[in-house]
Amino acid sequence: MNNVQQKPSLKGRLYCSVFGHNFSVSKKVTYHIKEYKCCHCKKEMTINSKGYLTDLTPKYKEINSVLERIHQNKLTRYSNSQMIQSSVLKMTS
Ligand SMILES: [Zn+2]
Repeated sequence: MNNVQQKPSLKGRLYCSVFGHNFSVSKKVTYHIKEYKCCHCKKEMTINSKGYLTDLTPKYKEINSVLERIHQNKLTRYSNSQMIQSSVLKMTS
């Protein structure tokens, strides 16, 4: 009874070749760039800088991680400036 398939991805790939990939967002990099993963075969895609869906290669993973860091920095700076503004408003009012 140990004949269990250890490669569920094979079944997934077969499913995908028949029905197409079923991508869901696996990571939000920026507002516009997201990483997608197929829930059947675990294939990963991303949006490149030109706005096209492309394979998530190690190169793109690297680019995305840099973009994500920049994006997070921007968000932090923005929320900080918002806090400063609101505290300034409180002081002047
Ligand atoms: Zn797939």
